[in-house]
Amino acid sequence: MFCRNCGQKIEDDAKFCPICGSKQEEEGFSAPDRKESCRSVYDSSSDGYAFLCFLFPIIGLLLFLVWKDMYPLRARSCGKGAIAGVITAIVVSILWSLIVFLARGFKT
Ligand SMILES: [Zn+2]
Repeated sequence: MFCRNCGQKIEDDAKFCPICGSKQEEEGFSAPDRKESCRSVYDSSSDGYAFLCFLFPIIGLLLFLVWKDMYPLRARSCGKGAIAGVITAIVVSILWSLIVFLARGFKT
């Protein structure tokens, strides 16, 4: 790359020009990269959150909505956990009512 100030050829990753000493990093230019690396550090799929959202699907739904833009992978974990939790809750309630139904049937 070339120096922003004097136009001399300098190292591609140089932060300062070795010839004139001017700063090469521009805030607006490097900000998106920094945000991206930030995202990759903090955003990861999480079994812990998935399990939490499995137990509390409503929290999972809220976390999914809050994180879906900032932390897509983590939000996806929460979403999956919440869906699994809802499905499990439905299956358990169906089984439970079936058990109650059968138990009543046996009593009478
Ligand atoms: Zn320079």
